Amino acid sequence: MSATAELGHLFRALKAPAAARALPKLAERARAEEWSYERFAEALLATERSSRESHGGESRIRAARFPSRKTLEEFDWSFQRSVKKDLVLHLAQLDFLLGKENVILLGPPGTGKTHLAIALGMRACLAGQRTAFATATEWVARLLDAQRQGRLEAELRRLGRVPLVIVDEVGYVPFDPQAANLMFHLVSARYERASLIMTSNKPFSAWGEIFGDDVVATAMVDRLIHHAEILSLKGDSYRLRGKDLDGDRRPKPAE
Ligand code: ADP
Ligand code: MG
Repeated sequence: MSATAELGHLFRALKAPAAARALPKLAERARAEEWSYERFAEALLATERSSRESHGGESRIRAARFPSRKTLEEFDWSFQRSVKKDLVLHLAQLDFLLGKENVILLGPPGTGKTHLAIALGMRACLAGQRTAFATATEWVARLLDAQRQGRLEAELRRLGRVPLVIVDEVGYVPFDPQAANLMFHLVSARYERASLIMTSNKPFSAWGEIFGDDVVATAMVDRLIHHAEILSLKGDSYRLRGKDLDGDRRPKPAE
């Protein structure tokens, strides 16, 4: 095999297409400018890494189907004081994914639960971790579909290989028994295998009502919180910031 063909083979095996594309030009430059071997290796590897960070991250972000893009950088920590910035920034280091731990965000509407869930999910995507985002209602519909087609087990196994699944808005709509059961399956299938981020506007004490069954709800919450970071967000909706909720006491502009 020629050296070029062998290199092509190695790049494919290593899944490093950007390095493969960059190689001829980089090698030419390295020869012309008499680079050290180390400098050449660094340039080649750095090309692949930055391409992965931009393209890989971007394609994983698209594949995750976030409803919008939110970042930790745009989160206003002075508005939302009930959640510790340090803790969220620590979560953003993604150790919880390695530990197969969960993150639960609880709090009233508008307090930033979905924002933080997306922002953590985007960090995971950029760090090379596949992520899947949907609301609880959407997850149930998907699993129901799989169940009807007799491939629920396969679908749960497939999801088990996705390092981060985000279930947004648990509790906005109460579940019927079948939906509750499917959600229980999803949580169980991932238990100690892969991470979940879940958000809910209801405290755990109200989950029995959401799931229409205290036993199912308790069993699910048990698994969910066994290895989990629970963030309770408090306060007013961010959407209402700057609005004086007790009536407009601001001075009227002079006419
Ligand atoms: P929740 O999911 O808790 O109902 P969201 O995360 O959807 O609330 O927040 C509602 C809107 O307000 C979103 O557009 C979100 O980006 C924004 N938002 C909420 N909290 C903050 C914050 N502390 N800093 C910046 N934007 C915020
Ligand atoms: Mg939300």
